[in-house]
Amino acid sequence: MLLRGNYFNILEGALLDISQNTDIYAADRFQMVQYQLIYRGIHDKRVLKAMSEIPRHRFVPDNYQHVAYEDSPLPIGEGQTISQPYMVAIMTQCLELKGEEKVSEIGTGSGYQAAILSVLAAQVYSIERHEMLAINARRLLKDLGYNNVEIIVGDGSIGLPDHSPFQGIIVTACAPKIPQNFIDQLAIGGRLVIPVGSPFGQTLFRVVKTETGTETKGILECAFVPLIGAEGWKEER
Ligand code: SAM
Repeated sequence: MLLRGNYFNILEGALLDISQNTDIYAADRFQMVQYQLIYRGIHDKRVLKAMSEIPRHRFVPDNYQHVAYEDSPLPIGEGQTISQPYMVAIMTQCLELKGEEKVSEIGTGSGYQAAILSVLAAQVYSIERHEMLAINARRLLKDLGYNNVEIIVGDGSIGLPDHSPFQGIIVTACAPKIPQNFIDQLAIGGRLVIPVGSPFGQTLFRVVKTETGTETKGILECAFVPLIGAEGWKEER
């Protein structure tokens, strides 16, 4: 009962919206938010609300829809993955979005993270190196009505200089180091969230750009697919 009470408090009535949602995965989504996110300390109400409403099952291949709300990443084709829900939540929470921001995502993948950003920020630019993934994500986001997202095909390891500065940059693939381009493309006060380390294990860092430099903090240990490109890893042949 305490959990129910916490849930009501945190989402401030969002349960009503969930119960009115008739898609067959609404209960799975509710459980995902409650047990994977709130229990582990995700507290940003806007992030919790977005993840309680956005149909994650639509962003995975048909044969994975029944496990779309489980506590793990899932394959999305091209050897890539949609990230674990908790990872999406903590990375998004680190951006501290209020709704007015222009943000970028490096690594569109399925488009799920872009959909979350779409409801939490004003404008989203997301870049993906695999054209097929970008085409699918673009189509799905349009079908679902996320109209403030622009998907670009290319090497996101150099960022998106033409659209900068950003109040938030989220990198959903692991880099060998923090590329200076990403810092350069942040507005003062802007937040960068990026996994850095080896392809076998990384630390998720949150970097805030200040008037005089940057403030960097390690958030947690993680395991992402590699950021392939000029400022990332070389592609294995
Ligand atoms: N955010 C995605 C989602 O919501 O489904 C998951 C991203 S997946 C963990 C990482 C993605 O980064 C892959 O789709 C991969 O192709 C992409 N990627 C890797 N290196 C990249 C680069 N240099 N530029 C753009 N995308 C890249």
